[in-house]
Amino acid sequence: MKRKFVWSLLGFASLMILLYVLQPAPDDIKFTDETRLMLDTFIRIVVYDPDFPADSVKQAISAAFADFARIDQLCSSVRDSSEISEINRQAGRAPVKISRHLRKILEYAKFTSEISGGAFDISFLPVSRRWNFYDSSRPFRKPAPEEIATALPKVDFRKIQLEADSVFLREPGMEIDVGGIAKGYAVDLAFETLQKSGLRDFQIDAGGNLRFLAGPVSTGKRKIWIKHPRNRDLLWGYLQMDTGCVATSGDYERFFIEDSVRYHHIIDPKTGYPAQKAVSVTVIAPTAMAADAFSTAIFVLGPVAGLQLAETQPELEAVILYLEQGELKWVASHGIRDKLVLESVGVASF
Ligand code: AMP
Ligand code: MG
Repeated sequence: MKRKFVWSLLGFASLMILLYVLQPAPDDIKFTDETRLMLDTFIRIVVYDPDFPADSVKQAISAAFADFARIDQLCSSVRDSSEISEINRQAGRAPVKISRHLRKILEYAKFTSEISGGAFDISFLPVSRRWNFYDSSRPFRKPAPEEIATALPKVDFRKIQLEADSVFLREPGMEIDVGGIAKGYAVDLAFETLQKSGLRDFQIDAGGNLRFLAGPVSTGKRKIWIKHPRNRDLLWGYLQMDTGCVATSGDYERFFIEDSVRYHHIIDPKTGYPAQKAVSVTVIAPTAMAADAFSTAIFVLGPVAGLQLAETQPELEAVILYLEQGELKWVASHGIRDKLVLESVGVASF
């Protein structure tokens, strides 16, 4: 058995999968930035506002990171004290009271599940555990088909009973995880915090979930590069955008290869195996939460059903990269084509 592990920089933290830069960027562009490791990933905030006092910028950035910390506390499925952990412990037993933030996340998760015909399903966790995608202390593994068959009946978003201020998982053994949507929600919160502080030119990146606002410095200069999903040294193309929300889901962040097959962390809830139809999906949406959830959903759906979903939802745009007989192909929804520039360059050029 040939087995190869590929692991990212810091244990469980995923790599930045979208790269955004201001181009052309004269050397005299001043900015303040800070990166922290939270929500299992690197969060980077960059503020360009030219005339804002440095202290106020620092304060605003700290407040935005406090938003990320809050969502991390509520949503972590590895932290025993989180609301998510309590919901999972009470599966099949009792409803659990939830905060306003978690309610919003669970509501949108439900909407995404319904729109995507169950491709997005936060109750995927019992299956994902079998692959050890949830335990940083143990290596990933390919479970036996019987293990997947045992866990799969627990996966069903329709058995998540969401009430006004509580949630109940109807079956014992059910478990939810909001890793495919919570980062986006946290980005939206942090975005509001920065905006309320008076900032007008900044960007937030939470592991490939971006939200940015163009002010005098960045307008016309922001390129959001999509990484090449099969060549770490290459960027595949970019989106030219000033203001908005973009997220990418890819199979090249957390994965292992066994007998030449790639297994990764985005699970197809219908099969219990990692989704195979796409390799990278980038979505533009009105909020970072929508971009986050739908990039995961469209990744599972793949180029045909995924594109159809993007075309029928007026607020969503998508670029879907996939493999056909080993060759990298792509499709894109109509509304994204004027922003998409196919230009392959080396990562090293940044
Ligand atoms: P993203 O990087 O946003 O595509 O999210 C990937 C994360 O979403 C995984 O690490 C899991 O936490 C979660 N996830 C995996 N499969 C699914 C699925 N089918 N539906 C919802 N969330 C998922
Ligand atoms: Mg996502």
